[in-house]
Amino acid sequence: MPTAVALLVAAGRGERLGSQGPKAFVRCAGRPMLEWSVEALRAVAALERIVVALPPGVTAPPGTHGVPGGEQRSHSVRAALHAAGPADLVLVHDAARPLLTPQLVEACLEAIAAEDCDAAIAAAPVADTIKEGAGEVVVRTLDRSRLWAVQTPQVFHRAVLERVLAQDDAVLAAATDDASLVEAQGGTVRLVPAPRANLKVTTPEDLQLAEALLGLRTREPR
Ligand code: C5P
Repeated sequence: MPTAVALLVAAGRGERLGSQGPKAFVRCAGRPMLEWSVEALRAVAALERIVVALPPGVTAPPGTHGVPGGEQRSHSVRAALHAAGPADLVLVHDAARPLLTPQLVEACLEAIAAEDCDAAIAAAPVADTIKEGAGEVVVRTLDRSRLWAVQTPQVFHRAVLERVLAQDDAVLAAATDDASLVEAQGGTVRLVPAPRANLKVTTPEDLQLAEALLGLRTREPR
């Protein structure tokens, strides 16, 4: 069995949320947002270690290893990777997605182990019709049947992630996810179907939605 570590990136400021402190530490359904992801990751036996990229002035949750985050998201991933220790597979997850489940983590780990690919990433088929715009004028309608809304977790062979993160800071700063760096180098990235509920908290409305969904989950019979 390949060994695996998780990198949880939690160092963003979360300006669009308008919160007092960093987004990953905003309370969400009764606890700091990142603790939901930590709980899901800790439930996966295949993960040997959880490294958290942190904003200044906060401590890592129990059972995790904290490192200072970077200026942009990819810089935080790179900082966490340096503290990952030896492992064959590296899973990257945004602390801003508190609806992570152990099942989704396992599905991504299984996909990369079973398939001939460089990365396996959680993604949901797009439900809306998506149009490309120039300002507020429609240029074209995209073929929805081929579109996926990409999430985290994203799992990589360690050597692949190390190679793409070794690029210039400016290249990393332009990447909104890690898989796009692999694609740009011709790597094969596999899509792992994921629930749309694994949403990213960006705005106050997203936070309300995440709290409602987490509240439903904690009321479900165990
Ligand atoms: O800002 P955005 O929501 O795209 O950030 C996605 C994730 O990346 C969040 O969990 C955030 O905490 C993390 N991040 C980070 N370091 C940064 C910027 C974002 O760890 N410099």
